[in-house]
Amino acid sequence: MINDMKFYGFMHKQILILLILFIGTGPGYIYIGWLYSSFHIELLWYIALLCVCAWGYVLHKQYLRKKMSLAEKDRWLARLKIFLYIAFSMWSVMFVIYTSKDILELHYIAIATQLGSSVVAATVLASQRRLAILTVVSLMLPLTFYFLIINEYYSYLLAFFSVVLAWVLLHSSNNTFNYLVKSRYQSYHDYLTKLGNRRYFIEMLDDAIAIQRRTQKYHYLLLVDLDHFKIINDTLGHDIGDKLLCEVANRMKNLAEVNNKAKVSRLGGDEFCLLSPEYDSIQECLEYGNSFAQELLEAIKESYVIGEHHLYISASIGISILDKPDMQANRFIKEADIAMYEAKNQGRDGLIIFNDKVAQHIQRKLEIERLLHFAIESKEIYLHYQPQLNIKEEIIGCEVLARWESLSLGNVRPDHFIAIAEQTGIIIELGHYILEESFKTLKEWDQKGVKLEHFSINISMRQMFHSSFVEDVIALSEKHLEAGLIKKLVFEITESSVAEDIHILIMNMNKLKEYGIRFSMDDFGTGYSSLSYLRQLPISELKIDKSFVAKIASSKQDRTMIKTIINIAQNLELRIVAEGVEDRLEVDYLAEEECDIFQGYFFYKPMSKESFELLKLGA
Ligand code: C2E
Ligand code: CA
Ligand code: CA
Repeated sequence: MINDMKFYGFMHKQILILLILFIGTGPGYIYIGWLYSSFHIELLWYIALLCVCAWGYVLHKQYLRKKMSLAEKDRWLARLKIFLYIAFSMWSVMFVIYTSKDILELHYIAIATQLGSSVVAATVLASQRRLAILTVVSLMLPLTFYFLIINEYYSYLLAFFSVVLAWVLLHSSNNTFNYLVKSRYQSYHDYLTKLGNRRYFIEMLDDAIAIQRRTQKYHYLLLVDLDHFKIINDTLGHDIGDKLLCEVANRMKNLAEVNNKAKVSRLGGDEFCLLSPEYDSIQECLEYGNSFAQELLEAIKESYVIGEHHLYISASIGISILDKPDMQANRFIKEADIAMYEAKNQGRDGLIIFNDKVAQHIQRKLEIERLLHFAIESKEIYLHYQPQLNIKEEIIGCEVLARWESLSLGNVRPDHFIAIAEQTGIIIELGHYILEESFKTLKEWDQKGVKLEHFSINISMRQMFHSSFVEDVIALSEKHLEAGLIKKLVFEITESSVAEDIHILIMNMNKLKEYGIRFSMDDFGTGYSSLSYLRQLPISELKIDKSFVAKIASSKQDRTMIKTIINIAQNLELRIVAEGVEDRLEVDYLAEEECDIFQGYFFYKPMSKESFELLKLGA
């Protein structure tokens, strides 16, 4: 049941209109009474009407004064209906009094007011269908009886007319009711999925917060956002996208309705929000929220058949617990939103519960994002170089690694700021800066006699897909490097889980390959890429991820993985680099498996340009 489908707010406004009408027209009776009789009855009646109206005013104020829960609003509405019925009945009392007198003018007045109040009741009470019927009937019935009692031919006709008028009033009031319900439904529901919309959800949430304030009970809120939904919309069209959204909505709704686990709304786009019923303890609330979110993730992931398409989609969920009664509804949605984004950042298809730690984490991320802009300008970002050695343990190359020593944040880890730079797009600017600095080093070293066979630079996928990347690289190398040095460049790219356009990637890689630059597949074995994907890319080197190297001694499975990677590399005639080598045992094992190049703390940690020069030249 939708929150304001009972028109609480609407009725609250109608009270004022009625009070003005009643209090304003009531004195008319005192005037008539003064003209035709002693006006004592009228005065008494008006005082009684004022008392009833005072009650109405109290009800009006009550609605504004405190935020009520749904149940309280229901009780308030019940009282309001009694007030309205009594207030309208006051006019019937005057009707009976006046029509029992012998003065004809008073009869006219009584008839006219009774007709008037019936019309008012039919319009003002339209949103409360049953009350409107009851009030109109109890106003029109005395009038009909009055005409019947006159017992003349003309009065029968008038009685008939009054019945017809009553019917017309009820009919139009019913039409108004239907219209109100329909427009209210539209303004609270999503046209596509028929779920409640954002407005619906916020009101439901407001209600839950009002309950929480008094009862100390807890609710959880889930924000569900589909992963890469845009790709479906863009590639298969909005029709299919819409149908998929409806299917997802149905699945969620069905699941949520079992045991009344939650209520679902669509906030917009591919974002859905769910609100749980109340729980006694925060712990219980968390456990149920967590397990229900897991259920949702599983259900959403099952395949969909839409037309001739078999589709798969996953979702990311943020959970927030309603545990702060002073907080606004929108803040809770915001918290769930923050948690949801964190779930997306952690690889999607998962859930994160909002808490202070998440908030701090996000705060730091925002700070990093903000400061990253200035970090490049103020040269806080600099480069380190980690030696790569051949089987004879000679330094034959290096990997360039970015470092950030921030004035206000201290040392920021590269995997942190690079990931943020990728998300925000600053990686384009940052990547350009890193490339230029690396090229300068390569040239400087060459001039100083620091000779290397290869010089590896990490390139993020976002850079690879950037429209001017190839031109930028060529322009930069033309500025700083001669042909002999370009041949030493190796660009390390990582497997990307995102189904981006592989053709663009291959095209860009081929252009750079023709130019003399080689490619290395970094962190191999940790991503999602398939062998066929690997074969399509013009790469010349595979890097065994350090997570496998670290477990050489302890895990047979990881040793098998290394063997498999080396096999693949040999079959595809790729050079093999092992990174993260930390002890002699690892070196020996890798050497035996015919690994070509070694990189790791066992030999050298990443170091400054000067230290690298000393190392190479000093020896
Ligand atoms: P990566 O490309 O896998 O870089 C190797 C990481 O392993 C480096 O961490 C390096 O310091 C670390 N490492 C090297 N030897 C050992 C070892 O023996 N044991 C252990 N435990 N670790 C070792 P770092 O410098 O913190 O970089 C982390 C990641 O940040 C890099 O992973 C890379 O993905 C990214 N990154 C760093 N610099 C750049 C850059 O200039 N551009 C881009 N796009 N990404 C970069
Ligand atoms: Ca790397
Ligand atoms: Ca790596």
